Amino acid sequence: MGLHDQYGLTQVINARGPFTPLGVSRSDERVTAAVAAALSGFFVMEELQDLASRTVARATGAQAATVVHCTSSAITLSVAAAMTGTAPERIAALPDTHGMPTRVVLPAGHTVDYGHPLVQDIRLAGATPVVSGTGDACTVADLERDLAHPDTACLVLVSSRLTRGAPVPLADAVAAAHRRGVPVVVDGAAQDLRIDELLATGADLVLVSGQKYLGSPTAGLVLGRAGAVRAVRAQEKGIGRAMKASKEAVIGVVEALGLRAELDQVAWRRAQTDKVAHFVARVSALPGVAGRVVDDPTGLPFPRASVVVDPAAAGRDAAALAAELRTGSPQIWVITQHQDRGELLLELVPLAEEEVAEILRALAALLPGTPQPA
Ligand SMILES: *Cc1c(COP(=O)(O)O)cnc(C)c1O
Repeated sequence: MGLHDQYGLTQVINARGPFTPLGVSRSDERVTAAVAAALSGFFVMEELQDLASRTVARATGAQAATVVHCTSSAITLSVAAAMTGTAPERIAALPDTHGMPTRVVLPAGHTVDYGHPLVQDIRLAGATPVVSGTGDACTVADLERDLAHPDTACLVLVSSRLTRGAPVPLADAVAAAHRRGVPVVVDGAAQDLRIDELLATGADLVLVSGQKYLGSPTAGLVLGRAGAVRAVRAQEKGIGRAMKASKEAVIGVVEALGLRAELDQVAWRRAQTDKVAHFVARVSALPGVAGRVVDDPTGLPFPRASVVVDPAAAGRDAAALAAELRTGSPQIWVITQHQDRGELLLELVPLAEEEVAEILRALAALLPGTPQPA
């Protein structure tokens, strides 16, 4: 709490998940200690990147990996790599793409906005996004048609809660691209707990954020086929200079992966489930709201709490309740994606018991007729 008092910063309880405008995630003490130690040392950066590559490879089974500034830059650099390979003159020329393949195909429902449009990451490399199918559906046949063009650099697929329309079968889409000799990049920014499944699609590169569930400093992990990773790393001498990982980020990723390897996944999962079940039971005892345990829509291994608001009994609708929580002290931020249908979602993974209790206190204070504690 030191920094908030020192600089007069707003206290926040983040029940929104790994949300960038709120500082994304919390790092374990072991990670913060490693990062602090990294900050005061000199390193051969090539060696740090080699260490990261070996550590990610051991943890995931990928052939190789590199760390860049974040997943947003990882998308730009993976697209750049698909256009340039390791050719130095091409790397130096970007974003001038003269003589290079420039079309980057992606399903229409994968043109997500995570704070800015993902297609801008593609355009930033100098490439041209080619949107396949419609927001409701993109079939493998739609992709085949757009991938057939000889000027195609790569296919980009997204694994996220933000995608729209009927799910695109990722492994089938990868196979369709590979039949045309087109490499595939999967943006799985918040899916670091599902790296195995994303690699199993056969994608050439899988991109995940270090600062989301992994809890490292801000970092983009690029993992996959050795040749494709080499071409991303080669961008360090080009546009990648502006998107580089810091020494403390690379060390933080290595340490966070070490922690993840030691984690008792079964016990962790049970703790998350218990935490949400306890919260939901307490919420359901409040007037005008009904709590429910819901699974993560992308298959992440922990549930979230759903709070359905009955406006007549609660005296306000879901959107108004979320706004009141957000203007309290501390501010409480929840997932408002489905507030129009009366539902708020809360992700409790990073929260301490006292913070969960604070959310329940704030709800009890807002909802009418709640017996106030003496
Ligand atoms: C968060 C997110 C990103 C961006 O990740 P950063 O590491 O913050 O750059 C990209 N794609 C999706 C689907 C995301 O959720």
